[in-house]
Amino acid sequence: MAEVCGGCDYQGIPYEKQLSMKQARVKELLGDFGKVEPILGMENPNYYRNKVQHVFGRDRKGKILAGFYEAKSHRVVDVDECLIEDKKSQEIIKTIKDMLRSFKITIYDEDTGYGLLRHVLVRRGFASGEIMVVLVSASVIFPSKNNFVKALRVKHPEITTVVLNVNDKNTSMVLGERNITLYGPGFIKDTLCGCTFRISPSSFYQVNPVQTEKLYRLAVEYAKLRKEDTVIDAYCGIGTIGLVAASGAGKVIGVELNPNAVRDAKINCKENQIQNALFLQGDAGEFMSLMASRGEHADVVFMDPPRSGSTEQFMDAVALLAPSRVVYISCNPETLARDLRYMRKKGYQVEKIQPVEMFCATSHVETVVLLQRKDM
Ligand code: SAH
Repeated sequence: MAEVCGGCDYQGIPYEKQLSMKQARVKELLGDFGKVEPILGMENPNYYRNKVQHVFGRDRKGKILAGFYEAKSHRVVDVDECLIEDKKSQEIIKTIKDMLRSFKITIYDEDTGYGLLRHVLVRRGFASGEIMVVLVSASVIFPSKNNFVKALRVKHPEITTVVLNVNDKNTSMVLGERNITLYGPGFIKDTLCGCTFRISPSSFYQVNPVQTEKLYRLAVEYAKLRKEDTVIDAYCGIGTIGLVAASGAGKVIGVELNPNAVRDAKINCKENQIQNALFLQGDAGEFMSLMASRGEHADVVFMDPPRSGSTEQFMDAVALLAPSRVVYISCNPETLARDLRYMRKKGYQVEKIQPVEMFCATSHVETVVLLQRKDM
Protein backbone atom coordinates (compact mmCIF):
# COMPACT_ATOMS: atom_id res chain seq x y z
CA MET A 1 0.00 0.00 0.00
CA ALA A 2 0.96 3.61 -0.51
CA GLU A 3 3.03 5.13 2.26
CA VAL A 4 2.31 8.64 3.52
CA CYS A 5 5.78 9.65 2.48
CA GLY A 6 4.91 12.48 0.12
CA GLY A 7 6.96 10.90 -2.64
CA CYS A 8 4.51 9.26 -5.01
CA ASP A 9 1.27 11.00 -5.89
CA TYR A 10 0.07 8.17 -8.19
CA GLN A 11 0.87 5.29 -5.83
CA GLY A 12 -2.17 3.04 -5.40
CA ILE A 13 -3.62 3.94 -8.82
CA PRO A 14 -3.62 0.93 -11.22
CA TYR A 15 -0.74 1.28 -13.68
CA GLU A 16 -2.88 1.39 -16.85
CA LYS A 17 -4.89 4.19 -15.31
CA GLN A 18 -1.69 6.10 -14.41
CA LEU A 19 -0.66 5.91 -18.05
CA SER A 20 -4.01 7.15 -19.32
CA MET A 21 -3.91 10.06 -16.85
CA LYS A 22 -0.50 11.07 -18.15
CA GLN A 23 -1.64 10.73 -21.74
CA ALA A 24 -4.61 13.00 -20.99
CA ARG A 25 -2.35 15.56 -19.31
CA VAL A 26 0.04 15.77 -22.26
CA LYS A 27 -2.91 15.95 -24.67
CA GLU A 28 -4.46 18.77 -22.69
CA LEU A 29 -1.24 20.78 -22.68
CA LEU A 30 0.18 19.90 -26.10
CA GLY A 31 -2.81 18.72 -28.16
CA ASP A 32 -2.96 22.05 -30.01
CA PHE A 33 0.45 21.40 -31.52
CA GLY A 34 -0.46 18.09 -33.15
CA LYS A 35 -1.23 14.43 -32.54
CA VAL A 36 0.03 13.04 -29.24
CA GLU A 37 1.34 9.48 -29.74
CA PRO A 38 0.30 6.87 -27.15
CA ILE A 39 2.64 6.98 -24.13
CA LEU A 40 5.45 4.41 -24.05
CA GLY A 41 4.78 2.62 -20.77
CA MET A 42 6.85 0.19 -18.70
CA GLU A 43 6.39 -3.54 -18.66
CA ASN A 44 7.26 -3.77 -14.99
CA PRO A 45 6.66 -0.45 -13.21
CA ASN A 46 8.17 -1.50 -9.86
CA TYR A 47 11.65 -0.99 -8.38
CA TYR A 48 12.74 1.01 -11.43
CA ARG A 49 14.70 3.82 -9.75
CA ASN A 50 18.49 3.45 -9.91
CA LYS A 51 18.97 6.35 -7.51
CA VAL A 52 17.69 6.14 -3.97
CA GLN A 53 18.01 9.14 -1.74
CA HIS A 54 16.84 9.28 1.85
CA VAL A 55 16.92 12.00 4.45
CA PHE A 56 17.77 11.19 8.06
CA GLY A 57 15.78 12.35 11.05
CA ARG A 58 14.62 11.28 14.50
CA ASP A 59 11.23 10.68 15.96
CA ARG A 60 10.10 12.09 19.31
CA LYS A 61 11.65 9.19 21.18
CA GLY A 62 14.97 9.71 19.45
CA LYS A 63 14.69 6.71 17.12
CA ILE A 64 16.63 7.21 13.89
CA LEU A 65 14.52 7.50 10.75
CA ALA A 66 15.55 7.36 7.10
CA GLY A 67 13.11 8.18 4.34
CA PHE A 68 11.35 11.15 2.81
CA TYR A 69 9.82 14.35 4.04
CA GLU A 70 6.10 14.10 4.51
CA ALA A 71 4.27 16.09 1.82
CA LYS A 72 4.56 19.85 2.40
CA SER A 73 6.44 19.41 5.67
CA HIS A 74 9.86 18.73 7.06
CA ARG A 75 8.77 15.72 9.08
CA VAL A 76 10.73 12.64 8.09
CA VAL A 77 8.70 9.52 7.29
CA ASP A 78 10.66 6.32 7.85
CA VAL A 79 10.70 4.25 4.66
CA ASP A 80 11.90 0.68 4.92
CA GLU A 81 10.21 -0.53 1.80
CA CYS A 82 9.43 1.50 -1.27
CA LEU A 83 7.84 0.07 -4.41
CA ILE A 84 9.72 2.13 -6.95
CA GLU A 85 13.25 2.21 -5.59
CA ASP A 86 15.95 -0.31 -6.39
CA LYS A 87 15.72 -3.11 -3.80
CA LYS A 88 19.45 -3.56 -3.24
CA SER A 89 19.91 0.18 -2.62
CA GLN A 90 17.11 0.10 -0.08
CA GLU A 91 18.80 -2.80 1.75
CA ILE A 92 22.05 -0.83 1.91
CA ILE A 93 20.32 2.21 3.37
CA LYS A 94 18.63 0.02 5.99
CA THR A 95 22.02 -1.42 6.95
CA ILE A 96 23.50 2.09 7.27
CA LYS A 97 20.59 3.18 9.43
CA ASP A 98 21.09 0.19 11.74
CA MET A 99 24.85 0.86 12.03
CA LEU A 100 24.63 4.52 13.04
CA ARG A 101 23.97 4.02 16.74
CA SER A 102 26.89 1.69 17.38
CA PHE A 103 29.24 4.04 15.51
CA LYS A 104 27.83 6.98 17.50
CA ILE A 105 27.11 8.92 14.34
CA THR A 106 24.73 11.76 15.07
CA ILE A 107 21.84 12.87 12.88
CA TYR A 108 21.77 16.45 11.63
CA ASP A 109 19.02 18.58 13.09
CA GLU A 110 17.73 21.17 10.63
CA ASP A 111 16.44 23.50 13.33
CA THR A 112 19.47 23.63 15.58
CA GLY A 113 22.18 22.90 13.01
CA TYR A 114 23.69 20.26 15.34
CA GLY A 115 24.56 16.73 14.30
CA LEU A 116 26.28 15.18 11.31
CA LEU A 117 24.50 12.89 8.90
CA ARG A 118 21.91 14.58 6.67
CA HIS A 119 21.18 12.29 3.71
CA VAL A 120 22.28 9.10 2.04
CA LEU A 121 22.25 8.57 -1.71
CA VAL A 122 22.77 5.19 -3.35
CA ARG A 123 23.14 4.84 -7.10
CA ARG A 124 23.32 1.46 -8.82
CA GLY A 125 24.31 0.93 -12.42
CA PHE A 126 21.62 -1.51 -13.54
CA ALA A 127 23.78 -2.71 -16.43
CA SER A 128 27.18 -2.64 -14.70
CA GLY A 129 26.12 -3.69 -11.18
CA GLU A 130 28.40 -0.98 -9.73
CA ILE A 131 27.08 0.71 -6.60
CA MET A 132 27.93 4.15 -5.18
CA VAL A 133 27.05 5.19 -1.65
CA VAL A 134 27.18 8.92 -0.87
CA LEU A 135 26.97 9.93 2.78
CA VAL A 136 25.96 13.58 3.06
CA SER A 137 27.38 15.08 6.21
CA ALA A 138 27.22 18.56 7.75
CA SER A 139 30.92 18.39 8.58
CA VAL A 140 34.09 17.10 7.05
CA ILE A 141 34.96 15.59 10.43
CA PHE A 142 33.17 12.27 10.42
CA PRO A 143 34.28 10.07 13.34
CA SER A 144 35.68 6.62 12.54
CA LYS A 145 34.70 6.97 8.91
CA ASN A 146 37.18 4.36 7.71
CA ASN A 147 35.91 1.75 10.16
CA PHE A 148 32.36 2.63 9.24
CA VAL A 149 33.05 2.08 5.56
CA LYS A 150 34.91 -1.15 6.29
CA ALA A 151 31.99 -2.51 8.33
CA LEU A 152 29.51 -1.45 5.65
CA ARG A 153 31.51 -3.23 2.97
CA VAL A 154 31.62 -6.42 5.01
CA LYS A 155 27.83 -6.40 5.00
CA HIS A 156 27.59 -5.27 1.36
CA PRO A 157 30.66 -6.32 -0.63
CA GLU A 158 28.76 -5.32 -3.78
CA ILE A 159 29.39 -1.62 -3.00
CA THR A 160 32.06 -0.36 -5.40
CA THR A 161 32.60 3.17 -4.07
CA VAL A 162 31.78 5.29 -1.01
CA VAL A 163 31.90 9.09 -1.03
CA LEU A 164 31.55 11.58 1.80
CA ASN A 165 29.75 14.68 0.56
CA VAL A 166 30.06 17.73 2.79
CA ASN A 167 27.01 19.96 2.99
CA ASP A 168 27.46 22.51 5.78
CA LYS A 169 24.88 24.98 4.48
CA ASN A 170 21.39 25.65 5.76
CA THR A 171 19.77 24.66 2.47
CA SER A 172 17.17 22.34 0.98
CA MET A 173 19.74 21.20 -1.61
CA VAL A 174 20.78 17.63 -0.81
CA LEU A 175 24.40 17.71 -1.93
CA GLY A 176 27.12 20.14 -0.93
CA GLU A 177 30.01 21.08 -3.16
CA ARG A 178 32.77 18.97 -1.66
CA ASN A 179 33.16 15.23 -2.28
CA ILE A 180 35.74 13.14 -0.45
CA THR A 181 36.21 9.62 -1.73
CA LEU A 182 36.38 7.15 1.16
CA TYR A 183 36.55 3.97 -0.90
CA GLY A 184 36.88 3.05 -4.57
CA PRO A 185 37.09 5.45 -7.52
CA GLY A 186 34.50 8.05 -6.38
CA PHE A 187 32.13 7.35 -9.27
CA ILE A 188 30.31 4.43 -10.90
CA LYS A 189 30.02 3.44 -14.52
CA ASP A 190 26.95 2.26 -16.34
CA THR A 191 26.00 1.35 -19.90
CA LEU A 192 23.15 2.79 -21.96
CA CYS A 193 22.51 2.27 -25.69
CA GLY A 194 25.91 0.61 -26.11
CA CYS A 195 27.95 3.48 -24.56
CA THR A 196 29.57 3.41 -21.14
CA PHE A 197 29.09 6.37 -18.82
CA ARG A 198 30.96 7.48 -15.76
CA ILE A 199 28.66 9.11 -13.19
CA SER A 200 29.93 11.34 -10.35
CA PRO A 201 27.90 11.96 -7.18
CA SER A 202 26.47 15.32 -8.28
CA SER A 203 26.05 14.65 -12.01
CA PHE A 204 22.55 14.22 -13.40
CA TYR A 205 21.77 10.72 -14.63
CA GLN A 206 18.30 9.56 -15.65
CA VAL A 207 16.76 7.53 -12.82
CA ASN A 208 14.93 4.96 -14.96
CA PRO A 209 17.50 3.23 -17.18
CA VAL A 210 15.06 0.81 -18.85
CA GLN A 211 13.00 3.69 -20.19
CA THR A 212 16.00 5.96 -20.78
CA GLU A 213 17.21 3.63 -23.53
CA LYS A 214 13.83 3.94 -25.25
CA LEU A 215 13.90 7.72 -24.76
CA TYR A 216 17.37 8.20 -26.21
CA ARG A 217 16.75 5.85 -29.15
CA LEU A 218 13.61 7.76 -30.00
CA ALA A 219 15.36 11.15 -29.72
CA VAL A 220 18.12 9.97 -32.06
CA GLU A 221 15.60 8.46 -34.50
CA TYR A 222 13.67 11.77 -34.60
CA ALA A 223 16.89 13.64 -35.41
CA LYS A 224 17.31 11.72 -38.72
CA LEU A 225 21.04 12.26 -38.54
CA ARG A 226 23.25 12.46 -41.61
CA LYS A 227 26.97 11.86 -41.60
CA GLU A 228 27.78 15.50 -42.28
CA ASP A 229 25.49 17.00 -39.62
CA THR A 230 26.65 19.41 -36.93
CA VAL A 231 24.70 18.47 -33.82
CA ILE A 232 24.29 20.38 -30.56
CA ASP A 233 23.48 18.50 -27.36
CA ALA A 234 22.27 21.28 -25.06
CA TYR A 235 21.82 20.69 -21.31
CA CYS A 236 23.87 17.56 -21.98
CA GLY A 237 24.65 16.35 -18.43
CA ILE A 238 27.34 13.67 -18.65
CA GLY A 239 27.03 13.65 -22.46
CA THR A 240 24.64 10.73 -22.84
CA ILE A 241 22.49 11.86 -25.78
CA GLY A 242 25.35 13.44 -27.73
CA LEU A 243 27.58 10.40 -27.33
CA VAL A 244 24.82 7.98 -28.33
CA ALA A 245 24.13 10.17 -31.39
CA ALA A 246 27.79 10.77 -32.36
CA SER A 247 28.28 7.70 -34.56
CA GLY A 248 25.55 8.93 -36.93
CA ALA A 249 26.67 12.57 -37.07
CA GLY A 250 29.51 14.69 -38.43
CA LYS A 251 30.27 16.54 -35.22
CA VAL A 252 28.64 16.86 -31.79
CA ILE A 253 28.98 19.83 -29.43
CA GLY A 254 27.64 19.36 -25.90
CA VAL A 255 27.04 22.20 -23.45
CA GLU A 256 26.25 21.88 -19.75
CA LEU A 257 26.33 24.14 -16.68
CA ASN A 258 27.49 21.69 -13.99
CA PRO A 259 31.32 21.44 -14.13
CA ASN A 260 31.37 17.93 -12.61
CA ALA A 261 28.98 16.66 -15.27
CA VAL A 262 31.08 18.27 -18.03
CA ARG A 263 34.17 16.56 -16.66
CA ASP A 264 32.29 13.25 -16.76
CA ALA A 265 31.14 13.99 -20.34
CA LYS A 266 34.70 14.65 -21.53
CA ILE A 267 35.98 11.43 -19.95
CA ASN A 268 32.98 9.51 -21.33
CA CYS A 269 33.80 10.80 -24.79
CA LYS A 270 37.38 9.50 -24.55
CA GLU A 271 36.48 6.19 -22.97
CA ASN A 272 33.94 5.41 -25.69
CA GLN A 273 36.59 6.31 -28.27
CA ILE A 274 34.40 8.95 -29.83
CA GLN A 275 36.46 11.40 -31.86
CA ASN A 276 33.83 13.75 -33.24
CA ALA A 277 32.36 15.18 -30.01
CA LEU A 278 33.41 17.95 -27.66
CA PHE A 279 31.90 19.21 -24.42
CA LEU A 280 31.87 22.71 -22.98
CA GLN A 281 30.92 24.11 -19.61
CA GLY A 282 28.58 27.07 -19.52
CA ASP A 283 25.05 28.35 -19.68
CA ALA A 284 23.35 26.81 -22.71
CA GLY A 285 21.59 30.06 -23.69
CA GLU A 286 24.80 32.10 -23.55
CA PHE A 287 26.70 29.48 -25.48
CA MET A 288 24.09 29.31 -28.23
CA SER A 289 24.00 33.12 -28.50
CA LEU A 290 27.75 33.19 -28.86
CA MET A 291 27.63 30.59 -31.61
CA ALA A 292 24.89 32.51 -33.39
CA SER A 293 26.78 35.81 -33.13
CA ARG A 294 29.69 34.14 -34.87
CA GLY A 295 27.41 33.24 -37.74
CA GLU A 296 27.69 29.51 -37.12
CA HIS A 297 25.16 26.93 -38.20
CA ALA A 298 23.80 23.70 -36.74
CA ASP A 299 21.81 20.96 -38.45
CA VAL A 300 20.26 19.38 -35.38
CA VAL A 301 19.74 20.62 -31.82
CA PHE A 302 18.90 18.26 -28.97
CA MET A 303 17.64 20.19 -25.98
CA ASP A 304 16.93 18.55 -22.62
CA PRO A 305 16.51 21.38 -20.10
CA PRO A 306 15.57 21.05 -16.41
CA ARG A 307 11.96 21.32 -15.23
CA SER A 308 11.97 25.11 -15.57
CA GLY A 309 12.37 24.67 -19.33
CA SER A 310 14.53 26.66 -21.72
CA THR A 311 14.98 30.41 -22.15
CA GLU A 312 14.10 32.94 -24.82
CA GLN A 313 17.81 33.67 -25.21
CA PHE A 314 18.39 29.99 -26.02
CA MET A 315 15.49 29.76 -28.46
CA ASP A 316 16.33 33.07 -30.18
CA ALA A 317 19.78 31.67 -30.81
CA VAL A 318 18.34 28.38 -32.10
CA ALA A 319 16.38 30.36 -34.70
CA LEU A 320 19.58 32.10 -35.82
CA LEU A 321 21.60 28.88 -35.97
CA ALA A 322 18.69 27.58 -38.06
CA PRO A 323 18.90 23.81 -37.53
CA SER A 324 16.37 21.99 -39.70
CA ARG A 325 15.45 19.66 -36.78
CA VAL A 326 15.16 20.35 -33.06
CA VAL A 327 14.51 17.45 -30.69
CA TYR A 328 13.13 18.74 -27.40
CA ILE A 329 13.22 16.29 -24.48
CA SER A 330 11.22 17.58 -21.56
CA CYS A 331 10.35 16.40 -18.06
CA ASN A 332 7.69 19.09 -17.64
CA PRO A 333 4.88 19.41 -20.19
CA GLU A 334 3.90 22.85 -18.87
CA THR A 335 7.19 24.56 -19.61
CA LEU A 336 7.39 22.47 -22.79
CA ALA A 337 4.06 23.95 -24.00
CA ARG A 338 5.30 27.45 -23.20
CA ASP A 339 8.58 26.87 -25.10
CA LEU A 340 6.84 25.23 -28.08
CA ARG A 341 4.62 28.31 -28.44
CA TYR A 342 7.77 30.42 -28.58
CA MET A 343 9.49 28.09 -31.04
CA ARG A 344 6.42 28.25 -33.26
CA LYS A 345 6.78 32.05 -33.44
CA LYS A 346 10.41 31.51 -34.37
CA GLY A 347 9.47 29.45 -37.43
CA TYR A 348 9.45 25.88 -36.07
CA GLN A 349 6.60 23.45 -36.53
CA VAL A 350 5.86 20.50 -34.25
CA GLU A 351 6.06 17.22 -36.19
CA LYS A 352 5.90 14.57 -33.46
CA ILE A 353 4.88 14.42 -29.80
CA GLN A 354 5.74 11.27 -27.89
CA PRO A 355 5.16 10.94 -24.13
CA VAL A 356 7.50 8.45 -22.44
CA GLU A 357 6.98 6.97 -19.00
CA MET A 358 10.01 7.63 -16.82
CA PHE A 359 8.48 8.05 -13.37
CA CYS A 360 5.91 5.33 -12.59
CA ALA A 361 3.76 5.94 -9.49
CA THR A 362 4.22 9.69 -9.82
CA SER A 363 2.40 12.25 -11.97
CA HIS A 364 5.63 13.26 -13.74
CA VAL A 365 5.77 12.64 -17.45
CA GLU A 366 8.58 12.91 -19.97
CA THR A 367 7.88 13.99 -23.55
CA VAL A 368 9.97 13.98 -26.72
CA VAL A 369 9.01 16.48 -29.41
CA LEU A 370 10.38 16.79 -32.92
CA LEU A 371 10.34 20.29 -34.36
CA GLN A 372 11.01 21.03 -38.01
CA ARG A 373 12.10 24.37 -39.41
CA LYS A 374 9.56 25.80 -41.81
CA ASP A 375 10.95 26.96 -45.12
CA MET A 376 11.15 30.71 -44.95
N1 SAH B 1 20.65 15.33 -21.27
C1 SAH B 1 21.14 14.86 -19.99
C2 SAH B 1 20.81 15.77 -18.82
C3 SAH B 1 19.41 16.31 -18.72
S1 SAH B 1 18.99 17.05 -17.17
C4 SAH B 1 20.67 13.44 -19.74
O1 SAH B 1 19.80 12.93 -20.43
O2 SAH B 1 21.21 12.79 -18.82
C5 SAH B 1 19.22 18.74 -17.44
C6 SAH B 1 20.66 19.19 -17.37
O3 SAH B 1 20.70 20.59 -17.62
C7 SAH B 1 21.35 18.99 -16.02
O4 SAH B 1 22.54 18.26 -16.21
C8 SAH B 1 21.65 20.43 -15.54
O5 SAH B 1 22.87 20.52 -14.82
C9 SAH B 1 21.73 21.18 -16.85
N2 SAH B 1 21.47 22.61 -16.80
C10 SAH B 1 20.62 23.30 -16.00
N3 SAH B 1 20.60 24.60 -16.33
C11 SAH B 1 21.46 24.76 -17.37
C12 SAH B 1 21.88 25.89 -18.16
N4 SAH B 1 21.39 27.11 -17.92
N5 SAH B 1 22.76 25.68 -19.15
C13 SAH B 1 23.26 24.45 -19.39
N6 SAH B 1 22.90 23.34 -18.68
C14 SAH B 1 22.02 23.50 -17.68
